[in-house]
Amino acid sequence: MQAAQFDLVVLGSGIAGLSAAVHAADAGQSVLVLTKGELAHSATRYAQGGVAAALFDGDDSPELHLSDTLAAGAGLCDADAVRVLAIEGPDRVRALMAMGAEFDRTGDGEAATLALAREGGHSVARVVHAGGDATGAEIERALVAAATATAAEVREGWLATDLLVEDGRAVGVRAIDPSAGEVEVRGRHTMLATGGAGQCFAVTTNPALSTGDGIAMALRAGVAVADAEFMQFHPTALHHPSMPRPLLSEALRGEGAVLRDEQGVAFMAEEHPQGDLAPRDVVARAITRRLNERGLDHLWLDATAIEGFAARFPTISNACHEVGLDPTRDWLPVAPAAHYLSGGVCTDLDGATTLPRLWACGEAACSGVHGANRLASNSLLDGLVFAKRAVDAIRAGRDGPDDTGVMRGVTARAHAPAAAVAPGSATRTDVQTIMTRDAGVLRDALSLERAANALAALAGPSSPDVQNLMTVSAALVRAATARRESRGTHTRLDYPERSSEFLGRFVFAGGEPGFVPLAAPAPEPAR
Ligand SMILES: Cc1cc2nc3c(=O)[nH]c(=O)nc-3n(C[C@H](O)[C@H](O)[C@H](O)COP(=O)(O)OP(=O)(O)OC[C@H]3O[C@@H](n4cnc5c(N)ncnc54)[C@H](O)[C@@H]3O)c2cc1C
Repeated sequence: MQAAQFDLVVLGSGIAGLSAAVHAADAGQSVLVLTKGELAHSATRYAQGGVAAALFDGDDSPELHLSDTLAAGAGLCDADAVRVLAIEGPDRVRALMAMGAEFDRTGDGEAATLALAREGGHSVARVVHAGGDATGAEIERALVAAATATAAEVREGWLATDLLVEDGRAVGVRAIDPSAGEVEVRGRHTMLATGGAGQCFAVTTNPALSTGDGIAMALRAGVAVADAEFMQFHPTALHHPSMPRPLLSEALRGEGAVLRDEQGVAFMAEEHPQGDLAPRDVVARAITRRLNERGLDHLWLDATAIEGFAARFPTISNACHEVGLDPTRDWLPVAPAAHYLSGGVCTDLDGATTLPRLWACGEAACSGVHGANRLASNSLLDGLVFAKRAVDAIRAGRDGPDDTGVMRGVTARAHAPAAAVAPGSATRTDVQTIMTRDAGVLRDALSLERAANALAALAGPSSPDVQNLMTVSAALVRAATARRESRGTHTRLDYPERSSEFLGRFVFAGGEPGFVPLAAPAPEPAR
């Protein structure tokens, strides 16, 4: 497929990739979407709780959304990026509705208004949802329909393996066409929208496709990647052998569900002023500490007080019944699971990376909006907002990054592509076992050293997916080793306090991560 040259090659068909594709195609650009599974398959379609945006005046505002996001981000958010997210978010949600996404409403007929849920870390109810707890499925449905109605071309089952770089800029990707083998796909611009990397861990809410491919491709090409240590662990995945782990959304606690220990004691009030609605990192740590101290593998979520459970949370209700639990009667066994990577490919406020003509958005990107800990329901919004901004920047003729957002202080760093690793027999399970044992919710220097050594001793990857998992896992472990403090989702048992020495990001641009202090530390609202 060497011949065709597209204006934009988009890797990935989740909320970020399809938003970018629709927007660019609607603007008359020639667009190719490459996706390694089916068009409708992504982490996006698993999203439950919803999309956070200050849609209505009254007790909410973009300023309040900004302040909640900064508080969750533990000092590492880029305040400019969060401001962009909070201010532009409402219009992006409205555009998604105009595209056909149907969110849940309360009231009847013309008086019906959008139903808003409150989730952990949000000071008001501002989360729109669909089908009760099937928000991602509805968004993916609407975006697939919209993308299919444009002139964008789609290649399903195509695996992008590496970036093509010529004369210091991205010119497309190398990919595996299922019917023809390895091919080159050329584009004037290339967009990484390949999602997260929860599959680095054995216990995860992420689907099998979340193997950090775009981030690994960037690392291999020497494109700056930051905040790799900040893997968010969702505190309440259903404790059950199925994988990905069914998620028991934070919205359950927003509706009154309570965490209880093995004695039935509700414990979150003693951990945080917001109790069961504390930010995720606080809840995941509180649970993991109890599990480790008491030799348990799960605690309990008591959702029995929620009225109309099956109607409000049909997906969760079905998942519980499938394993023989009735959430209106039974306490639900829960344990933390790898859920969301706050870090990724560094971008400016318009999605531009350090490699000219390479753009990144969604979970694969590090735009700075999540800092050290993502606020619940901010990631779908992140994909919507920054995908559009990147396409707008491309249309405006931009090629490379501006000195804005996370990119401040990063563009000056020298780039060095990483060496390729020879294939071997290491499997996904090999990587997951190491990461889960030694680089999970609670880490220390010894466990991280064990993880680094064990990853280095693996016998080379058995497939591109495994290679990507190894690359991203190694970056996560190196950044976690370098960050000798506890902040957000990164908890070091040997450095339990937050330290002003680490008010910045560990940035990879080939080789060891370099520390880049925050250009303008984000104010941390008092909580
Ligand atoms: C169970 C669950 C519940 C969640 N609930 C919420 C929620 O309520 N609210 C919220 O805001 N967020 C939620 N999240 C997080 C949110 O869903 C994700 O962060 C978001 O959907 C990521 O979107 P994305 O477009 O960046 O990536 P994804 O949706 O993961 O899409 C990535 C795409 O890239 C493709 N791809 C990957 N690698 C390659 C490759 N090498 N070549 C070609 N294609 C490739 C994949 O096939 C896929 O199509 C949840 C996540 C999970 C797992």
